[in-house]
Amino acid sequence: MKINENYSKLEQSYLFSTIAKKVNEFAQNNPDAKIIRLGIGDVTLPLCNAVIQALHNAVDEMGQQATFRGYGPEQGYDFLRESVKNYYKSHGVDLELDEIFISDGAKSDLGNILDLFDKENVVLVPDPVYPVYVDTNIMAGRKVLFANANKENGFLPMPDKAVKADIIYICSPNNPTGAAYNKEQLSEWVKYAKEQNAIILYDAAYECFISDNSLPRSIFEIEGANDCAIEFCSLSKTAGFTGTRCGYTIVPKSLGKLNQMWLRRQTTKFNGVPYIVQRAAAAVFTEEGQKEIRENINYYKENAKIISDTLEKCNIWHVGGKHSPYIWLKCPNNMTSWEFFDELLNKLQIVGTPGSGFGQNGEGFFRLTSFGSKENTIEAMKRFEKAYMK
Ligand SMILES: *Cc1c(COP(=O)(O)O)cnc(C)c1O
Repeated sequence: MKINENYSKLEQSYLFSTIAKKVNEFAQNNPDAKIIRLGIGDVTLPLCNAVIQALHNAVDEMGQQATFRGYGPEQGYDFLRESVKNYYKSHGVDLELDEIFISDGAKSDLGNILDLFDKENVVLVPDPVYPVYVDTNIMAGRKVLFANANKENGFLPMPDKAVKADIIYICSPNNPTGAAYNKEQLSEWVKYAKEQNAIILYDAAYECFISDNSLPRSIFEIEGANDCAIEFCSLSKTAGFTGTRCGYTIVPKSLGKLNQMWLRRQTTKFNGVPYIVQRAAAAVFTEEGQKEIRENINYYKENAKIISDTLEKCNIWHVGGKHSPYIWLKCPNNMTSWEFFDELLNKLQIVGTPGSGFGQNGEGFFRLTSFGSKENTIEAMKRFEKAYMK
C-alpha cells in the first residue's frame, strides 16, 4: 500500500485556529470587554418560514406508509430540478432538466468534479480566493497557477493570453473580496477559455447578493459559456442552508461527454440529497420562499452598507459589500493583515479575518463580514470611526 503523497504537499491552514486562539486569550485577559465578531463566514439568521413548513410536511410524509420515500434519484428529484430550471429562466437562462444536478452543497461538487479531469491538466486559480479550489487540486497532484487579484485590477483579474491553463476557477461575487465581474469581463474569460480549449468552473455561491440587475448571476448569461463552463451554486449563503445542506451544479449538454460523465460519477459515488432537504430547498424557490430569503439577504446587505459607509468616511480603500456579504479593505497605515487584526482586537475589540489567509495577494488586506447582528455591526463601526476617521 502506498498513500497519496499529494496530501503532504497541502499547506496547513492556521488562519481560523490562530484567530480563535488570539480571541480566546484576549477574552480571558479582558473578561469585561465586549468583543464584536465581524469575521463570521457563516450565516446567522434562521431558516425562513416557507422552508420550515416544507420540512415539517416532508417529515410527516416520511412517517406515513403511503408517502414514505427511500432512495431517490441520485441527481435530485424532478420537483426540485424544475424549481431550479424556473429560477434560471427568471434570469434569462434556459436549462434542460438533465443539465441540473442536485447536491449536498457546492463544496462537495467543486471537489468531486475533478474526477472528470485528467491529472495533467493545468489549473488557474485567482489569488486571493476560497481555499477549496487549490487544496482539491493539490490532493489530485495537479499543477496550480495563480491569477493575481490586486488593488490595481479591483481584485478582478482578467485573462492573460500568455498563460496556458486547462481548468479555470472563477468565483463571482468573490469570497473573500466581494468583488463581482460584469458581463463584459466575464465574456473575456469565456473567450479566453474557448481559445485555450479550457473549462471554467464557475462558483456562483453568492449570486443572490447581486444588487445590480446588469451584473450576471450566472455565467450562462454570457454567450458561448454553454460550451466551456460548469456552474456551482448553493443554498448555503442565499437561504441559510449551511447546516441543512443543499446545492446544485449545472453541467450543460453542449459540453459533450462531461454531462454524461458527471451523471455516471454521481450515480456511482453519491446517493442523493435527503428527500426532506430537497422539499425544503424547493420551498426556497416558491414566491413566499423568495420573498422571505430576500428579507434575510437585505438584512445582511444593510450591515454591509453600514460597514462600507464607515470605510468611505474613514477614507479606507475597499471593495465588495454591494453584491456580497463580504467587505475587503486595505489595512490602514500600511499595516500587515495580522498587525491590523491585532490592533482591531486589542484597541477596538473587533474581530475580522486577515486577508493573508486567503493567498499571497491578500497580505495587507482584511475581510469584514455582514453576517453579524445589526446592533453589533453599528457598534463596531462607531468604534472604527472613532479610531480611523482622520
Ligand atoms: C460558502 C461557499 C460555498 C458553499 O459551500 P456549501 O458546501 O454549499 O456550503 C461555495 N463557494 C464559496 C466561495 C463559498 O464561500
